[in-house]
Amino acid sequence: MTMSHERRETRDERRIMTGVCQTYQRYLEPGFSPFDPVELAGRTEEIVCRGERRKYTKFYCTGVYGGIATGYTCGCCLRCIFCWVNWSRDFPEKYGVLRSPAEAFSRLSRVARKAGVKQLRISGAEPTLGKSHLLGLLEKVESSPFRLFILETNGILIGAEADYARQIARFKKVHTRICLKAGTAEAFTKKTGALPESFELPFQGIVNLLEAGASFHVAAMTADARIVTQQERQMLLDRLASIDSALVSNLEEEVVDPYHTTLERLRYAGVKLTWGQGQ
Ligand code: SF4
Repeated sequence: MTMSHERRETRDERRIMTGVCQTYQRYLEPGFSPFDPVELAGRTEEIVCRGERRKYTKFYCTGVYGGIATGYTCGCCLRCIFCWVNWSRDFPEKYGVLRSPAEAFSRLSRVARKAGVKQLRISGAEPTLGKSHLLGLLEKVESSPFRLFILETNGILIGAEADYARQIARFKKVHTRICLKAGTAEAFTKKTGALPESFELPFQGIVNLLEAGASFHVAAMTADARIVTQQERQMLLDRLASIDSALVSNLEEEVVDPYHTTLERLRYAGVKLTWGQGQ
């Protein structure tokens, strides 16, 4: 391949990317049109993935889960109004460097060894985008001395494709944390921007993980009375109980935290929350 051919390809890629990004869904604003999250996942993958490579902005160690090496990726298929991750979620074309599974694993290993921790994760985005990247990375973790990989997901793609859940369940070192955003279809659209019918997908993701025999637990944004009513919370609990009552006893309930990006996204969406002293 000649240099001029390489340059032409880069220009072509840039032109395609400009087209993709012009109509790309950013943060929610009042009057937004609900989107199909599976379609948005595909559009996001066009921006943040190339073959097995996926964009990351940094690798670091954090104190959550008792200390965990973290790869911060770009791109999600929901637009939660309370999302804390940085602007790479909304403008993924502007952030990150493409890394192969081997490169991502090597960088994760380096920060884990430096901090003396034995567990790894991907954060800052939806890790199930870029399936070949994720599965390639999990292969590396499985045959490594590391103890655990925590897969934090919104469950959309695992719900849309049962085989994805089966492929994840093959890895014995992977524990999935599937996070529910709302208890009704209407609230799901208001909080995530996704079409009401896609409310079912994360619940289907839970069913798929259960049937695949995967190690997982469920988290939900249900401990915050400012964004969830008692009735909506109860509907979510009932729905989980109809799948398996153990999901309710092991449920991890979350509140909205006032990160700068969260406050800005709430403001753009026109949603006002009151914060206590010190927040
Ligand atoms: S909270 Fe999670 S699922 Fe929702 S937009 Fe942010 S990264 Fe995506």
